[in-house]
Amino acid sequence: MKNAIAKLFMGTLSMLVLSSAGFGQKSEAEIEKKVEHLLSKMTLEEKVGQMTQVTIQAVSAAQGTATQPHKLDLQKLEEAIVNYHVGSIINVYDVAHTVDYWHDVITRIQDMATKKTRLGIPVMYGIDAIHGANYTREATLFPQSIAMAATRNTELMKKNGEITAYEVRASGIPWNFNPVLGVGRSPLWPRLFETFGEDPYLVSQMGEAYIKGLEGDNNDVSAPDKVAACMKHYVGYSFPMTGKDRTPAWIPERMLRDIFLPPFKKAVEAGVHTVMVNSSEINGIPAHSDHHILTNILRNELGFKGFVVSDWEDINRLYTRDKVAASRKEAVRMAVMAGVDMSMVPYDFSFYNDLLELAKDGQVPRSRIDEAVGRILRVKFQLNLFENPYPDKSMKEKVGNEEFTEVSLQAAREAITLLKNDENLLPLHKNQKVLVTGPTANLRSVLNSGWTYTWQGNEEALYPQNKKTILEALQAKIGEENVIYHLGSTFDKMIDVEKTAEAARNVEVAIICLGEDAYCETPGNIHDLTLPQAQLDLATAIQKTGTPVILVLVEGRPRIITPIVDNSNAILMAYLPGPEGGQAIADVLFGDFNPSGKLPFTYPRHPNDLVCYDHKPIETDEDNKMNPLFSFGHGLSYTNFQYADLTLEPKTVYQDESINVKVTVKNSGKRAGKEIVELYLSDLYRSVSPPVRQLKRFTGVYLQPGESHTVEFSLNEDDLSFCGRDLNYTVEPGEFKVAVGNQSTIFELLPGAKKALK
Ligand code: BGC
Repeated sequence: MKNAIAKLFMGTLSMLVLSSAGFGQKSEAEIEKKVEHLLSKMTLEEKVGQMTQVTIQAVSAAQGTATQPHKLDLQKLEEAIVNYHVGSIINVYDVAHTVDYWHDVITRIQDMATKKTRLGIPVMYGIDAIHGANYTREATLFPQSIAMAATRNTELMKKNGEITAYEVRASGIPWNFNPVLGVGRSPLWPRLFETFGEDPYLVSQMGEAYIKGLEGDNNDVSAPDKVAACMKHYVGYSFPMTGKDRTPAWIPERMLRDIFLPPFKKAVEAGVHTVMVNSSEINGIPAHSDHHILTNILRNELGFKGFVVSDWEDINRLYTRDKVAASRKEAVRMAVMAGVDMSMVPYDFSFYNDLLELAKDGQVPRSRIDEAVGRILRVKFQLNLFENPYPDKSMKEKVGNEEFTEVSLQAAREAITLLKNDENLLPLHKNQKVLVTGPTANLRSVLNSGWTYTWQGNEEALYPQNKKTILEALQAKIGEENVIYHLGSTFDKMIDVEKTAEAARNVEVAIICLGEDAYCETPGNIHDLTLPQAQLDLATAIQKTGTPVILVLVEGRPRIITPIVDNSNAILMAYLPGPEGGQAIADVLFGDFNPSGKLPFTYPRHPNDLVCYDHKPIETDEDNKMNPLFSFGHGLSYTNFQYADLTLEPKTVYQDESINVKVTVKNSGKRAGKEIVELYLSDLYRSVSPPVRQLKRFTGVYLQPGESHTVEFSLNEDDLSFCGRDLNYTVEPGEFKVAVGNQSTIFELLPGAKKALK
């Protein structure tokens, strides 16, 4: 099955690659010459316009809704592009478009930019394609990133990026505001589902794979099926102290460097073209005004060469919300001088007017304007927009095709994480009679959540009917006659709990689908991590009947379910599995797919006990002992895997040597299955208290019953380094423990480098 998908997929993509080989790619020197030449011809007004980005709402006559078509306002468009020289437009207002309509919108915008302006500089349209091209109606949508992280499958993540790039470009759009590289260490945060979880290495690996998928192995974004990626939200946005979106984070430099910076560093190394700034503040400094973060670290230390875009309205908010600037104009000066190259204004031309004045009276040097505009133009040239700013209509044909859909289905299946399975209740037999209940059982929106057709993703009517809800997938799997359905409760209100419990008495097993309604960003803030009482009560009422219970969790963050865990026989974490999620859940419940997902976060047991897996030794004391409901990396299978023969070679190393790690994994059960093999490293003693363990490598192995495989990893100096007492990266000699599965062994790092000894 897996190979068949890979082959099909390779077929389609190699066609795309062939057709795109060498397309428009220019050498760096050629592009530099063009940028210089264009800059030399531009007026100050034209330059400041390039740094201005507005939402499509600002140039629209009518908002799109489920029933009303969106309409551009050509006069407003002309004002933006011709009078204000606007360099970038973004988003939808407020509903996803069809591919055809996108072609129309983009063509009108580019006509205006290239035919009606003096220099004909194309507009760089940007969009949030967060789990597939989610603002294109026919597109292939994927599980949200938190679910993709549970697959630990970087190849699938790359394919996700490739398909997303194809479908975004097929819509005529060259720029995607994704991936989210914030390390998700605040379980309450409503944007946790947009992250790849709580571990910096996992986030780095998934992020890199996705960027390579979007931009291509060589980051040649001039290819007609590639887009520029935008890593966001740089940096520290994912760790609000209160757990509420856009509230302050307090992140000491060491923590910033050890936890939050690595994924962005990796993305810069992977060639990412653009970055969006953290919408909030760290240590009292709003990121949009932070020269240290936006210039010293990003440019001088990480070597980022692309351009920096602000987040929504955030420059103005330095004045209106954060109170670090005493006027709108001062906010613009602060942000531009800190290192922001483009402002997502997004409704008006205030940024343009302010920056123009600032440049004219010398408060922002012309050299800084040229630097920012040069960076923006460079990416426009790299995207080949000057030669071809228009949509390629022929690409429409492949949007949402079956091969792409198969990849999404495979990702949803691989994401599903089996948390509990007492006495092997799962998989179920297809001749069993089941009760299906709960608020997430029969809705499509909840499988997808935010960033789906609308910002909040909660317009059920917009969801394609051919994608199955969990209930519909179960009915298709075992026949409608074997499925009894009652809603039971909504997300927070009991509906027909008694009737549902009564129905549970007449079936062999109850499948209770709980979780969260669709949400996105700040509207998804919660005051309590605990799953609403109505849902807990629904589960409890059914558990009291004595009928075996399976919980299916459809949620973007780990809502506390502790009161109903002991009396649940099995628990399946589905995260936000995307449009194929209903099918994938049914496949896992009935054994057509053997689950292999691993938790990308720690699942807490108590609302006020939120500790990540890589905690400090002091948190292993009896009194402080970490006691999560399920650990990071937890995930069961329908078969068993045994680990043996963990070996390290050599066992004493200098810091410039690498260590080869081998371990044998055997499928000792009765079903074929995939095991995610994870390597954890512990620095036993060091001058800054070490995390008890850190994920350093992972891979998946698919094994037939009885089959064994030796997995090999290689560790190097980077894996051993940390931010030392003097805030410089360092490695310290001493003992390290390597653990894989239930095996562990020690190696010793000797002082100095081997090279130095020779
Ligand atoms: C979000 C960004 C997004 C932008 C444009 C903001 O509210 O924080 O992630 O890219 O809107 O839609």
